[in-house]
Amino acid sequence: MFIIEFPTLFSYTIDNTLIDSVSIDSLIYTVKDLSGEQIVKIDGRDTLISKRKYNTAGNQLAEKYLYAKGRELGYKTNYQTCSATCKNIMWEMDGTLYQDSIVIIGAHFDSECFEDGNGQTKYLSPGANDNASGCAAIIEIARLIRNYKPQYNLKFIFWDEEEFGTVGSGYYANLAKKNSEKIKLYINLDMLGWDMDNDGLVRIKYVKVAQSLNFAEEAINICLLHNISLIPEIKTIKGSYIGFSGDADYFWHNGFSAIGLADMLDDMSLYHSEHDLVKYFNQQYFLNNTKLALALVMNYAYDYKPNSVNDIVIISDNISIFPNPTSDFINITINGINSRNCKLEIFDMLGNRVSVLYEGSLLSVNPTINFDCRSLSPCIYFVRFSGGGQSLTKTFGVIR
Ligand SMILES: [Zn+2]
Repeated sequence: MFIIEFPTLFSYTIDNTLIDSVSIDSLIYTVKDLSGEQIVKIDGRDTLISKRKYNTAGNQLAEKYLYAKGRELGYKTNYQTCSATCKNIMWEMDGTLYQDSIVIIGAHFDSECFEDGNGQTKYLSPGANDNASGCAAIIEIARLIRNYKPQYNLKFIFWDEEEFGTVGSGYYANLAKKNSEKIKLYINLDMLGWDMDNDGLVRIKYVKVAQSLNFAEEAINICLLHNISLIPEIKTIKGSYIGFSGDADYFWHNGFSAIGLADMLDDMSLYHSEHDLVKYFNQQYFLNNTKLALALVMNYAYDYKPNSVNDIVIISDNISIFPNPTSDFINITINGINSRNCKLEIFDMLGNRVSVLYEGSLLSVNPTINFDCRSLSPCIYFVRFSGGGQSLTKTFGVIR
C-alpha cells in the first residue's frame, strides 16, 4: 500500500510581495468591528462591541471576537487569565528551526475613558486608534502569513488592561521571566492610525535592555529596505516608565528585547476621548505602519532578508559615508567606480530628491565628495549614485 503525501501548505517561501498584499480595506474593516462602528457576529448573534474598557461587557465581547478570529485563521488560540478581570488572547504558530525562541507581536485591545477634571468618567472611548489600530494590524499580518511556517515560534498576543497599568502584558512578561522563556524580540503596536500633520514620522521606542537598541536601529533599515514610505526615528524612554508607557514596559523590565511602534500623539484632543473614531485616521499612514510591522515579523520570525533587486533598494558597500550619522558635513566616497557620466543625488525617505550633489565625470580612484547637511532636517536620507551602468544606494542620518 502506498501512502500518498500531499505537499504541505507551508512549503511556499515568504517574499516581499506579501508586504504589498496588506489591505487597507481589511484593516479599516477590523477597526470598525472593534470600535463599535459596525455590527459584528459573536457567538452567532449580531452585536456591537461598543467600548472596550476593562471589566465591561464590551471588553468581554472584544475578547470573544479576538479568540474567534484566531480560530478562524487556523492558529492555536488560547486565553491567558491574568486576574479575575484580565484576560489576554494568544495566537501561536510553531517555528520550524528555533522552537525554544519566540518572536512576539502584541497590541492591547482594551480602551480608555475620558475623565473630567475630578477624575470622573465622562466618556468611554471607542478606541479606534488606541488601540483597535494595533489589533487590526496584527490580525491583518496573521491573515497574510498564516500559510507560511516561521523559523522561530511566533505569538500574536492581544493584551487586556493596558490602560489600567499594563496588567496583561505585565503578567505575561513576569511569568515569561520566571519560566526562563526565550524571547528573541517583543514588538508592540500601539496607535498606528494618527498622522494629522502628514509627516510620516513613526517612533520606534526602546529602552537600553538586552538587544532592544539594535533591534530599533535595524527596524529603520528594514523600513528602508522594503521601501515603506515612513520616516522612522528611534526614541528611548527616560525615567521610570514601568506600567505606564505601554505594553513593552514589563518586557524591558524583565530584561527582554522589545521595541514599540508608532504611538504618535499628533492631536491630543482625540486621545482617550469619545472622538477616537476611524474617520480621523490617516489611512496611508496606518497602512504603512502595518507594512512595517509585517516586515519586522518577516525579518525576525522568518529570517527573511529581502533579495529582489526589483522591489528592494540595494544598500551598497561601494559607497562609504563618513561620518554617519552627521550633524554638519558628510564625505561620500565611491569605491571602484570610474565613469564619465555619473550622478550623485540625495533623496529623503519619501523618495523626494533633496539635492543633486554631482553630475559629470568621476575618473579618479575612489573619488570623495563633500556635502553640507546643515540645512537638512534631522532624519534618514538616501545617497544614490548612478553611473558606469550601476545604481548604488546608501543611507545616512542627520542628527542635531
Ligand atoms: Zn494604547
